[in-house]
Amino acid sequence: MEGIRAVTTAGQEILLNDAVIAELRERLHGELLCAADSGYDEGRSIWNAMHDDRPALLVRCAGASDVIAVVNFARARNIAVAVRSGGHNVSGSGSCDGGIQLDMSRLKGITLDPGHRTARVEPGVTWGEFDREAQAFGLATTGGICSQTGVAGVTLGGGFGWLMRKHGLALDNLLSLDVVTADGQLRRASPTENPDLFFGLRGAQSNLGIVTVLEYRLHPVGPIVLAGMVLHPIERGKDVLRFYRDFTAGAPEELSAWAALLTSPDGHPMVAILACYIGPAEEGEQVVKPLREFGPPVMDMLKPMPYVSAQSMIDESFPHGRFNYWKSSIMTGLSDEVIDTLVDGYRGASSPYSSVLIEHLGGAVSRVPQEETVFPHRAAAYEVVIMPMWTSTAESESHIGWADDLWHAIQPFSTGGAYVNYLGNEGEDRVRAAYGTNFPRLVMLKNKYDPTNLFCRNQNIKPQS
Ligand SMILES: Cc1cc2nc3c(=O)[nH]c(=O)nc-3n(C[C@H](O)[C@H](O)[C@H](O)COP(=O)(O)OP(=O)(O)OC[C@H]3O[C@@H](n4cnc5c(N)ncnc54)[C@H](O)[C@@H]3O)c2cc1C
Repeated sequence: MEGIRAVTTAGQEILLNDAVIAELRERLHGELLCAADSGYDEGRSIWNAMHDDRPALLVRCAGASDVIAVVNFARARNIAVAVRSGGHNVSGSGSCDGGIQLDMSRLKGITLDPGHRTARVEPGVTWGEFDREAQAFGLATTGGICSQTGVAGVTLGGGFGWLMRKHGLALDNLLSLDVVTADGQLRRASPTENPDLFFGLRGAQSNLGIVTVLEYRLHPVGPIVLAGMVLHPIERGKDVLRFYRDFTAGAPEELSAWAALLTSPDGHPMVAILACYIGPAEEGEQVVKPLREFGPPVMDMLKPMPYVSAQSMIDESFPHGRFNYWKSSIMTGLSDEVIDTLVDGYRGASSPYSSVLIEHLGGAVSRVPQEETVFPHRAAAYEVVIMPMWTSTAESESHIGWADDLWHAIQPFSTGGAYVNYLGNEGEDRVRAAYGTNFPRLVMLKNKYDPTNLFCRNQNIKPQS
Protein backbone atom coordinates (compact mmCIF):
# COMPACT_ATOMS: atom_id res chain seq x y z
CA MET A 1 0.00 0.00 0.00
CA GLU A 2 1.34 3.42 -0.90
CA GLY A 3 -0.17 5.54 1.88
CA ILE A 4 -3.10 7.94 1.95
CA ARG A 5 -3.43 11.45 0.60
CA ALA A 6 -4.58 14.05 3.09
CA VAL A 7 -5.08 17.79 2.83
CA THR A 8 -3.64 20.37 5.23
CA THR A 9 -5.61 23.29 6.63
CA ALA A 10 -3.80 25.44 4.04
CA GLY A 11 -5.11 23.19 1.24
CA GLN A 12 -1.84 21.43 0.42
CA GLU A 13 -1.85 17.72 -0.36
CA ILE A 14 0.39 15.53 1.78
CA LEU A 15 1.02 11.81 1.84
CA LEU A 16 0.47 9.85 5.05
CA ASN A 17 2.59 6.74 4.69
CA ASP A 18 1.63 3.34 6.05
CA ALA A 19 3.98 3.59 9.00
CA VAL A 20 2.50 6.80 10.41
CA ILE A 21 -1.04 5.48 9.92
CA ALA A 22 -0.08 2.25 11.69
CA GLU A 23 1.44 4.26 14.54
CA LEU A 24 -1.77 6.26 14.98
CA ARG A 25 -3.85 3.07 14.84
CA GLU A 26 -1.67 1.62 17.57
CA ARG A 27 -2.41 4.56 19.88
CA LEU A 28 -6.20 4.34 19.48
CA HIS A 29 -8.74 2.34 21.45
CA GLY A 30 -11.37 2.97 18.80
CA GLU A 31 -11.26 2.11 15.10
CA LEU A 32 -9.34 3.96 12.42
CA LEU A 33 -10.94 3.61 8.99
CA CYS A 34 -9.60 4.51 5.55
CA ALA A 35 -11.59 4.68 2.31
CA ALA A 36 -11.03 1.01 1.53
CA ASP A 37 -12.33 -0.20 4.92
CA SER A 38 -15.84 -1.46 5.47
CA GLY A 39 -17.79 0.96 7.63
CA TYR A 40 -16.02 3.99 6.11
CA ASP A 41 -19.00 5.06 3.97
CA GLU A 42 -21.46 4.55 6.78
CA GLY A 43 -19.21 6.47 9.18
CA ARG A 44 -18.71 9.49 6.91
CA SER A 45 -22.39 9.72 5.99
CA ILE A 46 -24.23 12.68 7.47
CA TRP A 47 -27.85 13.84 7.49
CA ASN A 48 -27.64 16.39 4.65
CA ALA A 49 -27.09 14.75 1.24
CA MET A 50 -25.71 18.06 -0.08
CA HIS A 51 -22.38 17.02 1.43
CA ASP A 52 -20.45 13.93 0.44
CA ASP A 53 -17.00 14.56 1.90
CA ARG A 54 -14.35 11.85 1.97
CA PRO A 55 -12.06 12.22 4.97
CA ALA A 56 -8.54 10.84 4.62
CA LEU A 57 -8.95 9.13 7.98
CA LEU A 58 -12.06 8.42 9.98
CA VAL A 59 -11.60 7.68 13.68
CA ARG A 60 -14.41 6.15 15.69
CA CYS A 61 -13.45 7.51 19.09
CA ALA A 62 -13.70 5.28 22.14
CA GLY A 63 -12.80 8.03 24.61
CA ALA A 64 -10.91 11.24 25.32
CA SER A 65 -7.53 9.57 24.80
CA ASP A 66 -8.46 8.87 21.17
CA VAL A 67 -9.36 12.53 20.71
CA ILE A 68 -5.99 13.55 22.18
CA ALA A 69 -4.13 11.10 19.92
CA VAL A 70 -5.90 12.40 16.81
CA VAL A 71 -5.45 16.07 17.73
CA ASN A 72 -1.71 15.55 18.32
CA PHE A 73 -1.39 13.60 15.05
CA ALA A 74 -3.32 16.23 13.09
CA ARG A 75 -1.51 19.20 14.66
CA ALA A 76 1.91 17.73 13.82
CA ARG A 77 0.89 17.62 10.15
CA ASN A 78 -1.55 20.52 10.08
CA ILE A 79 -4.42 18.34 8.88
CA ALA A 80 -7.95 19.71 9.40
CA VAL A 81 -10.07 17.98 12.04
CA ALA A 82 -13.86 17.66 11.70
CA VAL A 83 -16.01 16.38 14.54
CA ARG A 84 -19.23 14.46 14.04
CA SER A 85 -21.49 13.85 17.00
CA GLY A 86 -25.14 13.63 15.87
CA GLY A 87 -24.20 14.34 12.23
CA HIS A 88 -27.15 16.69 11.69
CA ASN A 89 -25.52 20.02 10.88
CA VAL A 90 -26.92 21.43 7.64
CA SER A 91 -23.51 22.85 6.63
CA GLY A 92 -21.96 19.36 6.53
CA SER A 93 -19.29 20.40 9.02
CA GLY A 94 -19.35 16.95 10.66
CA SER A 95 -17.09 15.64 7.90
CA CYS A 96 -14.29 16.98 5.70
CA ASP A 97 -12.61 16.19 2.39
CA GLY A 98 -9.06 15.03 2.96
CA GLY A 99 -9.02 15.77 6.69
CA ILE A 100 -9.57 13.63 9.75
CA GLN A 101 -13.12 12.98 10.86
CA LEU A 102 -13.53 12.37 14.58
CA ASP A 103 -16.66 10.27 14.82
CA MET A 104 -17.96 10.65 18.39
CA SER A 105 -21.20 8.75 17.75
CA ARG A 106 -20.16 5.71 19.79
CA LEU A 107 -19.60 7.74 22.95
CA LYS A 108 -23.02 7.14 24.47
CA GLY A 109 -22.42 7.48 28.22
CA ILE A 110 -25.04 9.28 30.32
CA THR A 111 -24.44 9.59 34.07
CA LEU A 112 -27.41 11.08 35.87
CA ASP A 113 -27.45 12.41 39.40
CA PRO A 114 -31.19 12.74 40.01
CA GLY A 115 -30.65 14.04 43.56
CA HIS A 116 -28.61 17.01 42.40
CA ARG A 117 -30.47 17.21 39.08
CA THR A 118 -27.36 17.04 36.96
CA ALA A 119 -26.19 14.83 34.11
CA ARG A 120 -22.80 14.15 32.54
CA VAL A 121 -23.32 13.26 28.90
CA GLU A 122 -20.92 12.04 26.23
CA PRO A 123 -21.12 13.69 22.80
CA GLY A 124 -22.37 10.69 20.82
CA VAL A 125 -25.70 10.86 22.65
CA THR A 126 -28.73 12.12 20.70
CA TRP A 127 -31.54 14.14 22.25
CA GLY A 128 -33.84 11.12 21.96
CA GLU A 129 -31.44 9.02 24.01
CA PHE A 130 -30.80 11.74 26.55
CA ASP A 131 -34.49 12.60 27.04
CA ARG A 132 -35.41 8.94 27.49
CA GLU A 133 -32.82 8.54 30.24
CA ALA A 134 -33.57 11.82 32.05
CA GLN A 135 -37.35 11.29 31.81
CA ALA A 136 -37.01 8.02 33.70
CA PHE A 137 -36.41 10.36 36.65
CA GLY A 138 -38.95 13.01 35.55
CA LEU A 139 -36.11 15.32 34.48
CA ALA A 140 -35.00 17.10 31.30
CA THR A 141 -33.02 20.06 30.05
CA THR A 142 -33.61 22.25 27.02
CA GLY A 143 -32.73 20.33 23.88
CA GLY A 144 -33.40 20.15 20.15
CA ILE A 145 -36.91 19.05 19.15
CA CYS A 146 -35.77 16.39 16.69
CA SER A 147 -34.72 13.27 18.56
CA GLN A 148 -31.94 12.29 16.13
CA THR A 149 -29.91 15.50 16.51
CA GLY A 150 -26.82 15.34 18.73
CA VAL A 151 -26.65 16.88 22.19
CA ALA A 152 -23.13 18.12 21.42
CA GLY A 153 -23.70 19.99 18.16
CA VAL A 154 -27.04 21.45 19.26
CA THR A 155 -25.74 22.62 22.64
CA LEU A 156 -22.39 23.99 21.46
CA GLY A 157 -24.12 26.37 19.06
CA GLY A 158 -27.06 27.37 21.28
CA GLY A 159 -29.88 24.88 21.66
CA PHE A 160 -33.45 26.00 20.94
CA GLY A 161 -36.18 23.75 22.27
CA TRP A 162 -39.54 23.51 24.00
CA LEU A 163 -38.06 24.26 27.42
CA MET A 164 -36.01 27.33 26.52
CA ARG A 165 -38.49 30.03 27.48
CA LYS A 166 -38.69 28.56 30.96
CA HIS A 167 -35.15 27.23 31.42
CA GLY A 168 -32.92 28.97 28.86
CA LEU A 169 -31.05 27.60 25.86
CA ALA A 170 -29.33 24.22 26.06
CA LEU A 171 -26.01 26.03 26.50
CA ASP A 172 -27.44 28.10 29.37
CA ASN A 173 -27.88 24.82 31.24
CA LEU A 174 -24.26 23.74 30.96
CA LEU A 175 -22.42 23.39 34.26
CA SER A 176 -19.10 22.28 32.84
CA LEU A 177 -17.45 20.79 29.77
CA ASP A 178 -14.47 18.50 29.26
CA VAL A 179 -12.63 19.53 26.13
CA VAL A 180 -9.49 18.62 24.21
CA THR A 181 -7.91 21.82 22.91
CA ALA A 182 -5.60 22.07 19.90
CA ASP A 183 -2.48 21.57 22.05
CA GLY A 184 -3.77 18.08 22.87
CA GLN A 185 -4.60 18.93 26.52
CA LEU A 186 -7.80 17.69 28.16
CA ARG A 187 -9.23 20.64 30.11
CA ARG A 188 -12.25 21.24 32.29
CA ALA A 189 -14.20 24.40 31.49
CA SER A 190 -16.62 25.72 34.11
CA PRO A 191 -17.34 29.00 35.90
CA THR A 192 -14.30 28.33 38.12
CA GLU A 193 -11.94 26.38 35.81
CA ASN A 194 -10.81 28.02 32.57
CA PRO A 195 -13.77 30.45 32.68
CA ASP A 196 -12.73 32.09 29.40
CA LEU A 197 -12.99 28.72 27.68
CA PHE A 198 -16.33 28.10 29.38
CA PHE A 199 -17.61 31.38 27.95
CA GLY A 200 -16.37 30.56 24.45
CA LEU A 201 -17.42 26.93 24.29
CA ARG A 202 -20.99 27.95 25.00
CA GLY A 203 -21.70 28.86 21.38
CA ALA A 204 -18.42 28.46 19.45
CA GLN A 205 -19.21 24.97 18.10
CA SER A 206 -15.83 23.18 17.69
CA ASN A 207 -13.78 26.34 17.17
CA LEU A 208 -12.01 26.03 20.53
CA GLY A 209 -11.75 22.27 20.92
CA ILE A 210 -13.37 18.85 20.89
CA VAL A 211 -15.81 18.33 23.73
CA THR A 212 -15.76 14.90 25.37
CA VAL A 213 -18.28 15.46 28.19
CA LEU A 214 -21.14 17.94 28.66
CA GLU A 215 -22.48 18.43 32.17
CA TYR A 216 -26.03 19.80 32.36
CA ARG A 217 -28.39 21.17 34.95
CA LEU A 218 -31.74 19.32 34.79
CA HIS A 219 -35.29 20.38 35.63
CA PRO A 220 -38.44 18.53 36.59
CA VAL A 221 -40.47 18.14 33.36
CA GLY A 222 -43.50 16.02 32.52
CA PRO A 223 -43.48 13.11 32.06
CA ILE A 224 -46.76 14.22 30.41
CA VAL A 225 -46.92 17.60 28.67
CA LEU A 226 -49.59 19.23 26.51
CA ALA A 227 -48.18 19.32 22.98
CA GLY A 228 -48.87 18.87 19.29
CA MET A 229 -49.98 21.21 16.54
CA VAL A 230 -52.94 22.91 14.92
CA LEU A 231 -53.17 23.17 11.15
CA HIS A 232 -54.79 25.78 8.91
CA PRO A 233 -54.96 26.10 5.11
CA ILE A 234 -52.41 28.51 3.62
CA GLU A 235 -55.29 30.73 2.44
CA ARG A 236 -55.67 31.77 6.08
CA GLY A 237 -51.89 31.96 6.54
CA LYS A 238 -51.56 35.71 7.00
CA ASP A 239 -54.34 35.88 9.60
CA VAL A 240 -52.96 32.85 11.40
CA LEU A 241 -49.46 34.32 11.63
CA ARG A 242 -50.86 37.64 12.90
CA PHE A 243 -52.78 35.70 15.52
CA TYR A 244 -49.60 33.69 16.30
CA ARG A 245 -47.63 36.91 16.81
CA ASP A 246 -50.19 38.33 19.23
CA PHE A 247 -50.68 35.01 21.00
CA THR A 248 -46.95 34.45 21.57
CA ALA A 249 -46.45 38.02 22.80
CA GLY A 250 -48.58 37.22 25.85
CA ALA A 251 -47.67 33.55 26.29
CA PRO A 252 -46.44 32.25 29.66
CA GLU A 253 -42.90 30.90 29.79
CA GLU A 254 -44.18 27.35 30.22
CA LEU A 255 -45.47 27.56 26.65
CA SER A 256 -43.33 27.46 23.53
CA ALA A 257 -45.20 27.91 20.26
CA TRP A 258 -43.50 27.79 16.86
CA ALA A 259 -45.20 28.47 13.54
CA ALA A 260 -44.45 26.58 10.34
CA LEU A 261 -45.34 26.99 6.71
CA LEU A 262 -45.34 23.50 5.29
CA THR A 263 -47.04 21.19 2.81
CA SER A 264 -49.25 18.33 3.97
CA PRO A 265 -48.48 14.78 2.78
CA ASP A 266 -51.36 15.09 0.29
CA GLY A 267 -49.82 18.19 -1.22
CA HIS A 268 -51.69 21.10 0.41
CA PRO A 269 -49.70 24.12 1.61
CA MET A 270 -50.62 24.79 5.25
CA VAL A 271 -49.70 26.92 8.20
CA ALA A 272 -49.14 25.09 11.47
CA ILE A 273 -48.65 26.22 15.04
CA LEU A 274 -46.64 23.67 17.00
CA ALA A 275 -46.76 24.02 20.75
CA CYS A 276 -45.59 22.46 23.97
CA TYR A 277 -46.83 23.47 27.41
CA ILE A 278 -44.77 22.13 30.32
CA GLY A 279 -46.80 23.46 33.28
CA PRO A 280 -49.75 21.84 35.06
CA ALA A 281 -52.14 20.11 32.62
CA GLU A 282 -55.33 21.93 33.69
CA GLU A 283 -53.65 25.34 33.26
CA GLY A 284 -52.26 24.19 29.93
CA GLU A 285 -55.74 23.62 28.54
CA GLN A 286 -56.62 27.24 29.32
CA VAL A 287 -53.37 28.50 27.83
CA VAL A 288 -53.80 26.66 24.51
CA LYS A 289 -57.54 27.36 24.25
CA PRO A 290 -57.03 30.30 21.84
CA LEU A 291 -54.95 27.99 19.61
CA ARG A 292 -57.84 25.53 19.43
CA GLU A 293 -60.42 28.28 18.84
CA PHE A 294 -58.75 30.58 16.29
CA GLY A 295 -59.92 29.76 12.79
CA PRO A 296 -60.87 27.13 13.90
CA PRO A 297 -58.03 24.90 12.69
CA VAL A 298 -58.77 22.22 10.11
CA MET A 299 -56.87 19.83 12.34
CA ASP A 300 -56.22 20.05 16.08
CA MET A 301 -53.58 17.58 17.27
CA LEU A 302 -52.82 19.22 20.61
CA LYS A 303 -53.09 16.64 23.35
CA PRO A 304 -51.41 15.38 26.52
CA MET A 305 -48.42 13.25 25.52
CA PRO A 306 -45.13 12.06 27.01
CA TYR A 307 -42.42 14.72 26.82
CA VAL A 308 -40.28 12.28 24.81
CA SER A 309 -43.04 12.16 22.18
CA ALA A 310 -43.20 15.96 22.03
CA GLN A 311 -39.44 15.84 21.48
CA SER A 312 -39.80 13.66 18.39
CA MET A 313 -42.99 14.90 16.73
CA ILE A 314 -41.15 16.41 13.74
CA ASP A 315 -38.68 13.52 13.25
CA GLU A 316 -40.39 12.03 10.22
CA SER A 317 -40.39 15.33 8.36
CA PHE A 318 -36.58 15.47 8.39
CA PRO A 319 -35.33 12.09 7.15
CA HIS A 320 -31.66 11.28 6.67
CA GLY A 321 -30.29 11.57 3.13
CA ARG A 322 -32.35 14.31 1.49
CA PHE A 323 -30.91 17.55 0.13
CA ASN A 324 -31.21 20.49 2.52
CA TYR A 325 -30.33 24.17 2.50
CA TRP A 326 -31.22 26.58 5.33
CA LYS A 327 -31.29 30.36 5.66
CA SER A 328 -31.65 31.88 9.12
CA SER A 329 -32.80 35.34 10.20
CA ILE A 330 -33.11 36.82 13.67
CA MET A 331 -36.14 39.07 14.24
CA THR A 332 -37.12 41.43 17.04
CA GLY A 333 -40.76 41.18 15.94
CA LEU A 334 -43.10 39.99 13.19
CA SER A 335 -44.52 42.94 11.28
CA ASP A 336 -47.52 42.58 8.98
CA GLU A 337 -45.13 43.10 6.06
CA VAL A 338 -42.83 40.24 7.02
CA ILE A 339 -45.80 37.95 7.59
CA ASP A 340 -47.21 38.79 4.15
CA THR A 341 -43.80 38.27 2.55
CA LEU A 342 -43.34 34.88 4.18
CA VAL A 343 -46.79 33.57 3.31
CA ASP A 344 -46.66 34.84 -0.29
CA GLY A 345 -43.12 33.48 -0.58
CA TYR A 346 -44.09 30.06 0.74
CA ARG A 347 -46.87 29.80 -1.82
CA GLY A 348 -44.10 29.82 -4.41
CA ALA A 349 -42.13 27.06 -2.68
CA SER A 350 -40.48 24.85 -5.26
CA SER A 351 -40.62 21.56 -3.32
CA PRO A 352 -43.40 19.99 -1.23
CA TYR A 353 -40.78 19.05 1.40
CA SER A 354 -39.77 22.67 1.95
CA SER A 355 -40.84 24.63 4.99
CA VAL A 356 -40.39 27.89 6.86
CA LEU A 357 -40.14 27.73 10.64
CA ILE A 358 -40.69 30.63 13.05
CA GLU A 359 -39.33 30.00 16.54
CA HIS A 360 -40.43 32.12 19.48
CA LEU A 361 -37.62 33.07 21.87
CA GLY A 362 -37.82 35.39 24.90
CA GLY A 363 -38.48 34.40 28.49
CA ALA A 364 -35.44 32.81 30.17
CA VAL A 365 -33.42 33.11 26.94
CA SER A 366 -33.60 36.89 27.16
CA ARG A 367 -32.65 37.07 30.85
CA VAL A 368 -29.09 35.80 30.34
CA PRO A 369 -26.69 38.74 29.86
CA GLN A 370 -25.40 39.03 26.30
CA GLU A 371 -21.75 38.83 27.43
CA GLU A 372 -22.22 35.68 29.54
CA THR A 373 -22.11 33.21 26.63
CA VAL A 374 -21.20 33.51 22.97
CA PHE A 375 -24.88 33.41 21.88
CA PRO A 376 -25.65 37.11 21.26
CA HIS A 377 -29.33 37.19 20.28
CA ARG A 378 -30.75 37.62 23.77
CA ALA A 379 -33.10 40.44 22.79
CA ALA A 380 -34.54 38.60 19.78
CA ALA A 381 -38.21 37.68 19.77
CA TYR A 382 -38.18 35.22 16.85
CA GLU A 383 -35.86 33.24 14.61
CA VAL A 384 -37.06 32.51 11.08
CA VAL A 385 -35.46 29.69 9.12
CA ILE A 386 -36.25 28.99 5.47
CA MET A 387 -35.68 25.29 4.80
CA PRO A 388 -35.97 23.92 1.28
CA MET A 389 -35.65 20.14 1.11
CA TRP A 390 -35.59 18.00 -2.04
CA THR A 391 -34.63 14.57 -3.29
CA SER A 392 -32.46 14.94 -6.39
CA THR A 393 -29.24 16.83 -6.96
CA ALA A 394 -30.49 18.00 -10.37
CA GLU A 395 -33.12 20.16 -8.62
CA SER A 396 -30.72 21.94 -6.28
CA GLU A 397 -30.45 25.25 -8.12
CA SER A 398 -34.16 26.03 -8.17
CA HIS A 399 -34.76 25.21 -4.50
CA ILE A 400 -31.72 27.15 -3.34
CA GLY A 401 -32.85 30.04 -5.52
CA TRP A 402 -36.29 30.02 -3.90
CA ALA A 403 -34.79 30.13 -0.41
CA ASP A 404 -32.29 32.86 -1.27
CA ASP A 405 -34.99 35.04 -2.84
CA LEU A 406 -37.29 34.70 0.16
CA TRP A 407 -34.43 35.28 2.59
CA HIS A 408 -33.42 38.48 0.76
CA ALA A 409 -37.04 39.65 0.80
CA ILE A 410 -37.25 39.42 4.61
CA GLN A 411 -33.84 40.96 5.37
CA PRO A 412 -35.26 44.50 5.74
CA PHE A 413 -37.20 43.12 8.74
CA SER A 414 -34.31 41.19 10.32
CA THR A 415 -31.69 42.37 12.82
CA GLY A 416 -29.14 41.03 10.31
CA GLY A 417 -28.28 38.28 12.82
CA ALA A 418 -28.40 34.54 12.27
CA TYR A 419 -28.49 31.44 14.47
CA VAL A 420 -25.11 29.77 14.10
CA ASN A 421 -26.53 26.24 14.22
CA TYR A 422 -28.67 26.95 11.15
CA LEU A 423 -25.94 28.50 8.98
CA GLY A 424 -24.80 26.79 5.81
CA ASN A 425 -21.49 27.56 4.14
CA GLU A 426 -22.30 31.24 3.79
CA GLY A 427 -18.97 32.97 4.37
CA GLU A 428 -17.28 35.02 7.07
CA ASP A 429 -19.78 37.88 7.17
CA ARG A 430 -22.54 35.51 8.15
CA VAL A 431 -20.38 33.98 10.89
CA ARG A 432 -19.86 37.50 12.22
CA ALA A 433 -23.61 38.07 12.00
CA ALA A 434 -24.18 34.91 14.03
CA TYR A 435 -21.84 36.02 16.83
CA GLY A 436 -22.59 39.75 16.73
CA THR A 437 -20.83 41.74 19.43
CA ASN A 438 -19.24 38.58 20.89
CA PHE A 439 -17.19 37.99 17.72
CA PRO A 440 -14.03 39.93 18.74
CA ARG A 441 -13.81 38.08 22.07
CA LEU A 442 -14.12 34.78 20.21
CA VAL A 443 -11.22 35.71 17.93
CA MET A 444 -9.06 36.30 21.04
CA LEU A 445 -10.03 32.87 22.38
CA LYS A 446 -9.31 31.27 19.01
CA ASN A 447 -5.83 32.85 19.04
CA LYS A 448 -5.26 31.39 22.50
CA TYR A 449 -6.74 27.89 22.12
CA ASP A 450 -6.45 27.09 18.39
CA PRO A 451 -3.89 29.45 16.85
CA THR A 452 -3.31 27.31 13.73
CA ASN A 453 -7.04 26.78 13.05
CA LEU A 454 -6.84 23.00 13.30
CA PHE A 455 -10.55 23.06 14.09
CA CYS A 456 -11.69 24.81 10.92
CA ARG A 457 -14.67 22.58 10.05
CA ASN A 458 -17.39 24.65 11.70
CA GLN A 459 -18.70 28.21 11.34
CA ASN A 460 -15.09 29.19 11.41
CA ILE A 461 -13.53 31.89 13.55
CA LYS A 462 -10.16 32.54 11.95
CA PRO A 463 -7.25 33.25 14.29
CA GLN A 464 -5.63 36.63 13.73
CA SER A 465 -1.91 37.20 14.08
C1 LIG B 1 -33.72 17.81 11.60
C2 LIG B 1 -33.03 18.87 12.41
C3 LIG B 1 -33.67 19.41 13.52
C4 LIG B 1 -33.04 20.38 14.28
N1 LIG B 1 -33.70 20.90 15.37
C5 LIG B 1 -33.08 21.82 16.13
C6 LIG B 1 -33.71 22.33 17.31
O1 LIG B 1 -34.81 21.95 17.66
N2 LIG B 1 -33.03 23.24 18.04
C7 LIG B 1 -31.79 23.69 17.68
O2 LIG B 1 -31.24 24.53 18.38
N3 LIG B 1 -31.18 23.23 16.58
C8 LIG B 1 -31.79 22.30 15.80
N4 LIG B 1 -31.16 21.83 14.69
C9 LIG B 1 -29.85 22.39 14.30
C10 LIG B 1 -28.78 21.74 15.14
O3 LIG B 1 -28.60 22.50 16.32
C11 LIG B 1 -27.43 21.69 14.40
O4 LIG B 1 -27.61 21.07 13.17
C12 LIG B 1 -26.39 20.95 15.24
O5 LIG B 1 -25.10 21.30 14.79
C13 LIG B 1 -26.57 19.45 15.16
O6 LIG B 1 -25.69 18.82 16.05
P1 LIG B 1 -25.13 17.36 15.70
O7 LIG B 1 -24.28 16.94 16.83
O8 LIG B 1 -26.27 16.49 15.33
O9 LIG B 1 -24.31 17.67 14.39
P2 LIG B 1 -22.83 17.37 13.89
O10 LIG B 1 -22.92 17.55 12.42
O11 LIG B 1 -22.32 16.10 14.42
O12 LIG B 1 -22.00 18.54 14.52
C14 LIG B 1 -22.19 19.85 14.06
C15 LIG B 1 -21.07 20.75 14.55
O13 LIG B 1 -21.16 20.89 15.97
C16 LIG B 1 -19.86 20.94 16.52
N5 LIG B 1 -19.65 19.75 17.35
C17 LIG B 1 -20.32 18.58 17.30
N6 LIG B 1 -19.84 17.74 18.22
C18 LIG B 1 -18.84 18.38 18.86
C19 LIG B 1 -17.95 18.03 19.90
N7 LIG B 1 -18.00 16.84 20.48
N8 LIG B 1 -17.03 18.94 20.29
C20 LIG B 1 -16.96 20.17 19.71
N9 LIG B 1 -17.80 20.55 18.73
C21 LIG B 1 -18.72 19.67 18.30
C22 LIG B 1 -18.88 20.91 15.36
O14 LIG B 1 -18.56 22.22 14.97
C23 LIG B 1 -19.68 20.21 14.28
O15 LIG B 1 -19.25 20.56 12.99
C24 LIG B 1 -31.76 20.85 13.93
C25 LIG B 1 -31.11 20.29 12.83
C26 LIG B 1 -31.74 19.30 12.07
C27 LIG B 1 -31.05 18.75 10.87
